[in-house]
Amino acid sequence: MNICKGKSVFPSVAIGRIQVIKKRKNIVTRLQIEDQEAEVIRFDQAISTAISQLGELYQKACEEAGEESAAIFEIHQMMLMDDDFLESIRNIIRQQSVNTEYAVTVTADNFADIFSSMDDDYMKERAIDVKDISDRLVNILSRRNSQAVLCKEPVIILADDLTPSETVLLDKEKVLGFVTRHGSINSHTAILARTMNIPAIVSTDIHNPDAYNGVMAIVDGYTGMVYLDPDDDTLNMMKRIQDKDLEKKKLLQELKGKETITKDGVKVHLYANISSESDLDYVLQNDAEGIGLFRSEFLYLESNDYPTEEQQFNTYKKVLETMAGKKVIIRTLDIGADKQIDYFGLEKEENPALGYRAVRICLDRCDIFRTQFRALYRASAFGTLSIMIPMIISVKEVLQVKQIIHEVKEQLDAEGIKYSDPALGIMVETPASVMISDQLAREVDFFSIGTNDLTQYTLAIDRQNPRLDSFYDPYHPAIMEMIKITVDNAHKNGIWVGICGELASDFAVTETLLSMGIDELSVSPSFILPLRKKIRECYIS
Ligand code: PEP
Ligand code: MG
Repeated sequence: MNICKGKSVFPSVAIGRIQVIKKRKNIVTRLQIEDQEAEVIRFDQAISTAISQLGELYQKACEEAGEESAAIFEIHQMMLMDDDFLESIRNIIRQQSVNTEYAVTVTADNFADIFSSMDDDYMKERAIDVKDISDRLVNILSRRNSQAVLCKEPVIILADDLTPSETVLLDKEKVLGFVTRHGSINSHTAILARTMNIPAIVSTDIHNPDAYNGVMAIVDGYTGMVYLDPDDDTLNMMKRIQDKDLEKKKLLQELKGKETITKDGVKVHLYANISSESDLDYVLQNDAEGIGLFRSEFLYLESNDYPTEEQQFNTYKKVLETMAGKKVIIRTLDIGADKQIDYFGLEKEENPALGYRAVRICLDRCDIFRTQFRALYRASAFGTLSIMIPMIISVKEVLQVKQIIHEVKEQLDAEGIKYSDPALGIMVETPASVMISDQLAREVDFFSIGTNDLTQYTLAIDRQNPRLDSFYDPYHPAIMEMIKITVDNAHKNGIWVGICGELASDFAVTETLLSMGIDELSVSPSFILPLRKKIRECYIS
């Protein structure tokens, strides 16, 4: 048995075999070949495999995200049947006697250059698709997986690191837990693990991950330990912990349908944080009273292209209908920092956390914002929607947002499209917004404090940097004082205030936060019932 240590992001236990996931860049070399016709056959076989992989992806995407989102895989299939593309590759193989990987890459680069130089925006974007299909072909030719996870049995993923978009693409049914060698406990990848209920350990001192592929392992999310090839005693001990967890979960079921109210009678709104439509099951299973934060950027992270108004509308409508009249707070796009999306074509930044992010991008590229607001307003007719804007630092930004909303409403009126009147709130997650919370509260209907970023920006600590994890202190008196200032200014102006950062699920401060006057807590679905239990045990006045 080998024992490694890391930082736990979700307190639970996973037992299973390890699957190592490696990120490999496609480095293609030019090789001289002798049998051109054999190479052409190899190429044709790779094309058939790619087309059938894309067919499977199309089906999966249709079931999980609808036909429109799946359409991209059909487009890729069509590109792989394009005669010009295929003939160009076959010609290079035959005329230059080179390997298929090289011929595919050269041809794809040529096609991508042609698309990029076109005036039509739609055609320009096809350049990314050509690169995508070329990568798929090269992966197939070198027998690598281009899909996130392809294991049949549920496994524990072991990787150097996982980005938020890789994490969201993991097949949740097949992932028992994950262990990464890098990564911070405050990253979005860690937050996703909590939302998905997955025991996960980051920043682990495993030196030779390849050696553990297929090996039995235990992820102990209580201590941050990973047991590789565990002995029988350890295995039995951890199985007992798993059984106890199960018992505790069963006991918590009794709290379903009960009020979230302190011992001295103060009612607290207890909502769930989600990242995608697929989290709705957890929300319902855990009896959340609403959704306090839908991180809408994951819609963008999961796609290969800007999600259309229709795609967004369908997702928001589904969430609202599923919640059947309960409050749903959807946060507008918050990309940038650790959430990067290739098709946005954002430049690399020296300090991405302090960079071009969230509302800054949306107010700059208003078309993106307008599309999202149109989808949100159209969906508002199907439930109780509130809209929340991230990373606000000024009243001016709020007024600009309101102006865009005003224009969108005018458009919808002209088109005769019905909508309701969603509340507008902001995330208070920058020190600037705390300091001017009195002014901001006069412009909006609610505040939700994002303690993850508020901690990062107040303490000047990059939440992505694992070296700083021990300095990242959300209990710091400065943070507590900022929360108090925000609550007081919200209440002074007659609006409610909640917390949707990870501090909301930290039982060590539940009583303190409620005593300050916090009206709402929004947490990962798996924390709803334990937090309801905690709140029902609190005295706050
Ligand atoms: C926060 O900053 O606390 C928050 C909830 O937003 P995110 O973690 O998505 O940045
Ligand atoms: Mg934030």
